[in-house]
Amino acid sequence: MSDYRIETKCIQSGYEPGNGEPRILPIYQSTTFRYTTSEQMGRLFDLEESGYFYTRLQNPTNDAVAAKICDLEGGTAAMLTSSGQAANFYAIMNIAQAGDHIVCASALYGGTYNLYAHTIKKMGVDATFVDPDCTEEELEAAFQDNTKAVFGESIANPALVVLDFEKFAKAAHIHKVPFIVDNTFATPINCRPFEWGADIVTHSTTKYMDGHASCVGGAIVDSGNFDWEAAAEKFPGLTTPDETYHGIVYTQKFGKGAYITKATAQLMRDLGSIQAPQNAFLLNIGLETLHLRMARHCENALKAAKYLQGHEKVAWVNFPSLPGDKYYDLAQKYMPNGTCGVLTFGLKGGRDAAVEMMDRLKLIAIVTHVADARSCVLHPASHTHRQMNERELLEAGVQPDLIRFSVGIENAEDIIADLGQALS
Ligand SMILES: *Cc1c(COP(=O)(O)O)cnc(C)c1O
Repeated sequence: MSDYRIETKCIQSGYEPGNGEPRILPIYQSTTFRYTTSEQMGRLFDLEESGYFYTRLQNPTNDAVAAKICDLEGGTAAMLTSSGQAANFYAIMNIAQAGDHIVCASALYGGTYNLYAHTIKKMGVDATFVDPDCTEEELEAAFQDNTKAVFGESIANPALVVLDFEKFAKAAHIHKVPFIVDNTFATPINCRPFEWGADIVTHSTTKYMDGHASCVGGAIVDSGNFDWEAAAEKFPGLTTPDETYHGIVYTQKFGKGAYITKATAQLMRDLGSIQAPQNAFLLNIGLETLHLRMARHCENALKAAKYLQGHEKVAWVNFPSLPGDKYYDLAQKYMPNGTCGVLTFGLKGGRDAAVEMMDRLKLIAIVTHVADARSCVLHPASHTHRQMNERELLEAGVQPDLIRFSVGIENAEDIIADLGQALS
């Protein structure tokens, strides 16, 4: 599929039926798969032969959808996970263990921040968080001898910081570690991190990829570009024998598929965060229109951002595609066709005015979710971050008056009219 343009890949990649087979990707609603000889089943268990035997490890529906996402990102191997959280957890734990360390851009989705700052710390993996706008010297200072990866979000949720890919990729590669990018908000329609030096991409497919708020899911894609053998002493899990599979060495046996094969064979086997084939089927239908939806999300968000910017009651607007935004230049460089449909803004009346305005909205709903077809808002100070006082909120980078606005694909004039009546 790789010669087609991205719009064609959204529709066609991943599943190519043979003669007389279903035109639409079927849901393989089966936990297990039948074989005629015991010996063949044994070879599957030894990873000597590829094939399906148990859906916790692999399922044909999931594999077809992973292959589509892989093609969209321009990768060489991919897997689905049960959630974006599972994808970001696996992406790190596939190459780090107790005693190791990672470097992360500090502007992160709250769940990912908790995962890396607290949960993996309890497992012995430390994280150093750096300001994404730091200098090369400051970034360099964050590395340690035991650093195993660099992580950032292409467009941070909800800070809307655009990551300077080249700066982070350069630092990671000087230290012979992979650069991992969570590309959830930009999606491969607007940004392809592999073209800017990222080695591994993760997704919360829950957001734009599904696009309809129907299924929680995640994905990990490997570019195949990182040379694990060249940094073999840092990544023994990939470059030395795995005794649980009779001593196979992933890099030797699977080449560019080593990272994803190891994540499937070890982490999925042991932790089991598999995406349900039903959900993968729905995700695939979402992916078929990703290119159409992203264009409309971006167009509507820019119209809404301009409207808000010109409104007398609005104190500030953040949207990286808005000329004058702090991240406008980085957005133009890395995602010139558009960023995403999420913007943030604050009202001159502050926190109380934000809450009052949100309660008056009719079309735009108050929900925790972002990045689906329906317009919605969230007030982090009252919702996701409500346990924090004003000082803690500012330290977490959440202004008390910040409203996160996920602009949907309804008619832009209806969205703006709802904002207008709620602000008046
Ligand atoms: C939502 C989100 C996640 C977590 O994904 P889930 O599917 O909710 O587990 C991770 N990264 C980003 C950028 C997100 O927006």
